[in-house]
Amino acid sequence: MRTRRRGGGGEEEEEEEEGRQAREKEKKERAREKYKNDKCKKRYAVTLNRPPGHHCDGQRIHGYCYINNVAASIDRVCKVMDTKMKILVLDVDVHHGDGTQKLFYSNPNVLTISFHQFDGTFFPCTGERKEYGPSRGHAAYGTNINIPLHPGATDYDLLYALRNVVWPIVDEFQPEIAYYAVGTDGVDGDRACPDTKLSPLIYGQVCYELMSRCSKIVVTTEGGYTTSFLADGMNSVMQALTGSHNVNIFPSSFAQAWIRPETKNAVECTRSDLKKIYRFPDLVYDNTGYEDWKQPQTSASHVHTFMHQIHPRTHFCVCLCVISRRENKQETRGGGGGGGEKKKKELHKTGKY
Ligand SMILES: [Zn+2]
Repeated sequence: MRTRRRGGGGEEEEEEEEGRQAREKEKKERAREKYKNDKCKKRYAVTLNRPPGHHCDGQRIHGYCYINNVAASIDRVCKVMDTKMKILVLDVDVHHGDGTQKLFYSNPNVLTISFHQFDGTFFPCTGERKEYGPSRGHAAYGTNINIPLHPGATDYDLLYALRNVVWPIVDEFQPEIAYYAVGTDGVDGDRACPDTKLSPLIYGQVCYELMSRCSKIVVTTEGGYTTSFLADGMNSVMQALTGSHNVNIFPSSFAQAWIRPETKNAVECTRSDLKKIYRFPDLVYDNTGYEDWKQPQTSASHVHTFMHQIHPRTHFCVCLCVISRRENKQETRGGGGGGGEKKKKELHKTGKY
């Protein structure tokens, strides 16, 4: 709180402070008014960050993350616009967004959702499904959703959980702004050595489906260590945002047999645990009609990033991306996502990724 100082100099300072506060207030009012008039318009932003941010909890550097980019942005948005603004953070990265979860765990106005590999040993070894909020009865209970992906999970596991758990919750929560944190390190063969089998195209599909649920989307990058996958993943996201006809290529429903039993179980348990908070429609799947359907292949990438030139431990850069048309280029640095079981276990243990 401001205190009155003795003497003429003190009064001057006080007047200055009052003027500053009035200008700040006016600025906020203008921003709010602008937002109110703009409410229905679609607005999208894309930031390319290196290193990622979702392991940083504001207290410590963790998993390459120095600054939680999403949280820093949300903090600013809330300060300028409205502290009660409803915000969604959808984090699709092979690692749990532990820092982001911690920062918003008791905030009922920020819905944090994380898809990540979880088998008890994979870095950062957090992100259990049942972490819904501080406690039952707390206002924020049900505003943290973890979707654990088991080894071998594919695009269909992700879509199954997305459509049967995540979207019904988002539809009820009705976020005013959505942060879509894209980490392409869950793509099969990424240098982070994931056991998940995602394709780069799933990131565009998720974005496409999110666009019908929220008119303001900020896309930001998390992990992703094989450059060509990162470029292809972001390419598909940008195609979705720009309305390209190459998106929405996954079927609206699919055979149950394509889904891993662990995913089905996780979906059923989460729906059951949260049925008093959210209304879940019937499960979306269809056992007929898709026998011949094949996984879409990644097309030539039109996004080239310099991210592979920046080692995440030693540099911090924001918006490194240049967009250009390029022919599909295979990842040549470091021999792609191989490395063998031994290397994989070592990396997971040491938390290098
Ligand atoms: Zn990651």
